[in-house]
Amino acid sequence: MVKKNSRNIAPKTNPAAKKAARTRTSSPQIEARLAKLGLHQDMDFVVHIPLRYEDETRITPIRDLQPGRSVLVQGTVLGHSVQYRPRRQLVAKLQDDSGSLTLRWLHFYPSQLNALKKGATLRLKGEVRQGFYGLEMVHPNIRSANRPLADTLTPVYPTTSGLSQAQLNTIILDALKRVDLGDTLPETIQKKYSLWPFERAIRFLHHPDKDVSIEALLDKTHPAWRRVQFDELLAQQLALAQARARRLALGAIAMPLTVGALQTQLVAQLPFELTAAQQRVVEEIIVDLNQTHPMHRLVQGDVGSGKTIVAALVAAHVIGNGYQVALMAPTEILAEQHYEKIDHWLAPLGVNVQFLVGSQKAAQRREIMPQLADGRAQFVIGTQALIQDQVKFKNLALVLLDEQHRFGVEQRLALSKKGLQTDPQGHELWPHQLTLSATPIPRSLAMTYYADLDLSVIDELPPGRQPVQTKLVAEQRRAQVVAGIHREVAQGRQVYWVCPLIEESEALQLKTAEETYERLQEQLPECTIGLLHGRIEREEKQRLMDAFRTGHIQVLVATTVIEVGVDVPNASLMVIEHAERFGLAQLHQLRGRVGRGSAQSFCILLYQGPLSETARERLRAMYETTDGFEIARRDLDIRGPGEFLGMKQSGQLLLRFAELNDQALLNAAKETAQWLLNEAPEIAEKHLDRWLSGREELMQS
Ligand code: ADP
Ligand code: MG
Repeated sequence: MVKKNSRNIAPKTNPAAKKAARTRTSSPQIEARLAKLGLHQDMDFVVHIPLRYEDETRITPIRDLQPGRSVLVQGTVLGHSVQYRPRRQLVAKLQDDSGSLTLRWLHFYPSQLNALKKGATLRLKGEVRQGFYGLEMVHPNIRSANRPLADTLTPVYPTTSGLSQAQLNTIILDALKRVDLGDTLPETIQKKYSLWPFERAIRFLHHPDKDVSIEALLDKTHPAWRRVQFDELLAQQLALAQARARRLALGAIAMPLTVGALQTQLVAQLPFELTAAQQRVVEEIIVDLNQTHPMHRLVQGDVGSGKTIVAALVAAHVIGNGYQVALMAPTEILAEQHYEKIDHWLAPLGVNVQFLVGSQKAAQRREIMPQLADGRAQFVIGTQALIQDQVKFKNLALVLLDEQHRFGVEQRLALSKKGLQTDPQGHELWPHQLTLSATPIPRSLAMTYYADLDLSVIDELPPGRQPVQTKLVAEQRRAQVVAGIHREVAQGRQVYWVCPLIEESEALQLKTAEETYERLQEQLPECTIGLLHGRIEREEKQRLMDAFRTGHIQVLVATTVIEVGVDVPNASLMVIEHAERFGLAQLHQLRGRVGRGSAQSFCILLYQGPLSETARERLRAMYETTDGFEIARRDLDIRGPGEFLGMKQSGQLLLRFAELNDQALLNAAKETAQWLLNEAPEIAEKHLDRWLSGREELMQS
């Protein structure tokens, strides 16, 4: 959570309201299970919408039963017996006017035998399935035959182990009683977009009328669903507008537009021409930097599109204006790569570039800190080490973040705060913030996830690149792959061999990497082979990477530590072992390590069958396209937004109910948000309170 004292950037939170909402009296265990489902406050329960429904409003004649449906039946017991084949079980027969049905229990109590006395009238609930001797129910629930039938459908909620439907139902009913479900939307708006009143929609979703179309409910096209989706989209649009307004109200140091000498010198010194896309993006950013409010901008570009030079040019602009720049990368390897490249570009122009990571010697750090504090160091590149307390800047005005979604809100804010200054009039001045994202995110999703963020896209690769050719090769043909390495190395090229991802165990992953390393050494005696993994010391890592960059190592066996950022243009072959275990974005990142030079490059995805359906889809996507944006779209289709953004719990996702591609509803929400903010800000406030209270951190950009 964001601390209160960062008042301008942190959104409003209301801890008192949050507390008051937690009035349920249940055990800590139950609380924990509810929390696991993302259920904390009353409103969470109100919008904990059933996954599906069961129909206990009617009794189905046995003749009409269909396999796969869960229904109520009622009839007379014809008799029961305990049978022993294939294992001990209780079998009974139930008959109504229309036919008869077999009942089966694999676990049972003596009391059940009583209930199943011949001639007894029974009502049962269960799922019908096709048995060997006709339709049957396994472990049906016995209900009292005298009880009146339900008059609404019975909800089945998403739950977790140790939390029964009955418990959840009671807690939700309770919340529904307590919470004010009054409408936030004026009737004019409801009319205009044919929306149901909120209360009606919510009550309906929890307990739908018996004659509703279950299909419309399940595919979320029912008007009750539309209302909830609309409300959610509206809250999001309002929050976006507010976050933007809040940011525009903050102060920042404007960087005058004149192209600085430093930037011109840097361009002149480059061994290549900038692409049109790179030039456009640099200009967009520089225009933004000349505003008196902080920039929050995301640069998206496919792997290899040349984001680093864009960052360096922008940094040169800021340094030319007399201010400091910091770049934070999620790993030391990445930070190191950026440092080497940027230092190589900027040091000859007289810029003092420093490197700061956790594994550095204390003495080294002691040398760097004062330079940051007094402004001698103009550019610092590092990891999270940059946000330690001891790090102080003289005048940090631009924060660069590599791979935004690897950093939490607090970390981003912590770095920005190191540049927070107060001008002579007492106004706060915040640094500008630019994020580089190597994982393209579909625009719609970026906007729902990264609250208030302007977007620049480098939609062009440097000229002369040949798309990487991807091949899918079954594990059995590994020997051929090794022969391919031999050929590539003989032509003076270099090779990455990526070892399988073993999520359960880092130790096992390491072991596999070591085995592969040894095996390849035997199979390729003429090659120099290196082994790179997460446990290697920083200096050793650096030595390895240098040796690979300069061509002294020809084959680099590595775990996924090389996933992002590594840039060795002479590497032209990438082998990914057990490719079926990797996610699509990760495969794309890995593949992006080759195809950086002018030689035709190859990516071999070694896989072990049989493949699951999703693994097959991922590998097919890798085979069919090299476009990162297309890959991102497919990844989103395969995984859904929660998983795509690396958030396992749907509760963490800002949009849980609305479909990301429902353009019509999104437009309606946008229009309404504008209208409310202009005409009825108090309603906007009320609506936001209902939907986002307690979830503000999601709205940070
Ligand atoms: P990414 O966008 O994946 O971070 P990099 O910034 O690492 O890409 O750039 C990939 C490679 O392309 C680097 O070797 C870089 O020097 C080179 N490069 C960047 N821009 C151009 C360009 N306009 N023309 C040719 N090469 C370029
Ligand atoms: Mg990069």
